[in-house]
Amino acid sequence: MTNFKSLGLDASLLKAVEKLGFETPTEVQSKVIPILLNDKTDLVGLAQTGTGKTAAFGLPMLQHIDLEIRKIQGLILSPTRELCLQITNEIGQYGSEIKKLNVVAVYGGANISEQAKKIKRGSHIVVATPGRLKDMIRRKLIDIGSIKFCVLDEADEMLNMGFYEDIKSILNYTPKTKSSWLFSATMPPEVHTIAKKFMTAPVEITVGTKNAGTKNVDHQYFIVPGRERYTALRAVLGMNPDIFGCVFCRTKIETQKVAEKLIQDGHKAAAIHGDLSQNQRDAVMQSFRKKKIQLLIATDVAARGIDVEDITHVINYQLPDEIETYTHRSGRTGRAGKLGTSIIFITKSDKRKIKLIENKLQIKLTEFEMPSAQEILKNKIQHWIQQIKNTPIKSDLKPYLAMVHKEFEDFDKEILVDLIFSKEFRNYDINPKISSFDLGKKSEKYSDKKINAPHEKDRFFINVGSRDQYEWTTLKDFVRSYLKLGTDDVFQVEVMKNFSFFSTHKKYRDLVLKSFENLNLDNRKISVELTKKGKTFFPKKKKKKSNYGSKSKKGFK
Ligand code: AMP
Repeated sequence: MTNFKSLGLDASLLKAVEKLGFETPTEVQSKVIPILLNDKTDLVGLAQTGTGKTAAFGLPMLQHIDLEIRKIQGLILSPTRELCLQITNEIGQYGSEIKKLNVVAVYGGANISEQAKKIKRGSHIVVATPGRLKDMIRRKLIDIGSIKFCVLDEADEMLNMGFYEDIKSILNYTPKTKSSWLFSATMPPEVHTIAKKFMTAPVEITVGTKNAGTKNVDHQYFIVPGRERYTALRAVLGMNPDIFGCVFCRTKIETQKVAEKLIQDGHKAAAIHGDLSQNQRDAVMQSFRKKKIQLLIATDVAARGIDVEDITHVINYQLPDEIETYTHRSGRTGRAGKLGTSIIFITKSDKRKIKLIENKLQIKLTEFEMPSAQEILKNKIQHWIQQIKNTPIKSDLKPYLAMVHKEFEDFDKEILVDLIFSKEFRNYDINPKISSFDLGKKSEKYSDKKINAPHEKDRFFINVGSRDQYEWTTLKDFVRSYLKLGTDDVFQVEVMKNFSFFSTHKKYRDLVLKSFENLNLDNRKISVELTKKGKTFFPKKKKKKSNYGSKSKKGFK
């Protein structure tokens, strides 16, 4: 069996790889590393993220770097800031045993002078997004005229995002003598053109089948009437209570709507889309990575470069326009040897597209029927039973347990179980009228339709947030119990760092505003204000102004 040593890597790199706990090289590493270590060649690698391709080009690049030369020798272009930072971090880890190595990330949305300063101090490898790099070249803040290696990572994504002209102009500043290594998950004609135009007789390496989705992904589809998509999503969530997933929608508005509905239905969800500021996107991504959010509702553009471990499900709320995009979506799951599921909701009239995907991507999609309400309920009950069986008894609760036991000492075990079960599942509508597979909808009083009617709800700003140790659940409880309202009366709770938002039915407007008028917590005035009409769920950055700690009432206008 191949091991890292047999690939010809230096001791320092082997030590770093060992420190990271990598035991055997992945397929792309076994194929690519010996070539890039021994031959001065251009290379095209067809491999998705999650296959270990960063190490496949990163390790040979590190081995070839001459630390004595204080000039940029390796350039890695990546489509997004997120991916750029991930690659920089990974290269840093692979080079952790190489003294004096300097790897710098160059990307938009951050201070350009700071990045220029780091470059000036002498960097061996630069990882960059095309737009910012081009800008720095134009301002003469960076010199890439001596590079020996140039990597175009996720080339299909970069071209999808319209970086062709930027890449072309960047490559004009690089020497002809360099080696170019291009990595792409798919091989659309545009990537072929780049390879043809800018590379010399590249060696082609394919990991798995050309253009195929990862083999660790189980591709499933459900025929769902267009208006029942949300119901179908809830059914999938009902069958997979431990899901950690990404839901892809076509539009920003849709991501937002779906996220709002999910939050309202008690799920930990958040939307990520192009209207969020970079800081807001970072905050959402961080929460997702830390699993504080269970479901990320994303547009394709916003999800580019997302590399989050352990995603169990990708849900295609609608199919993407380009079939290739499906590869990127489904590639977010089934990574690092784990199994994942990619689910497509498709209308009857679009069913023919399933065959197209199967043929083009050479994968098998299996049709599944939506579970019935009863099946979902049974599944939820099973999950709940397992959770109870697996709950450890906290020793510090023991003194209070005695009290609880005493309280229930006259109860028959069966009755007790009935009571606990009934309390847990009290909100479930076992005979749903809305759809054969929908389950657990909230009462009529707060049906989605009503709650989403903007003229019937009010959205409030409150000057406490995650830095006050609030999560959406605890904040909801706080507001609800303070106002003495029911569980469903406070909804769409969104916690940001310094402040938060929540919604209530319009009829509670005076109650909310009056009740919070004179509330002080820990010597701090709690301020609650009505947000402006038409405000987006996530406010734009420039409007994001917290009045945390201030006496002014003008916090969020
Ligand atoms: P990549 O495809 O480069 O984005 O890598 C995906 C993930 O796999 C990263 O988190 C790497 O740290 C990890 N990885 C890369 N190579 C190996 C390996 N040989 N064994 C185990 N994990 C690896």
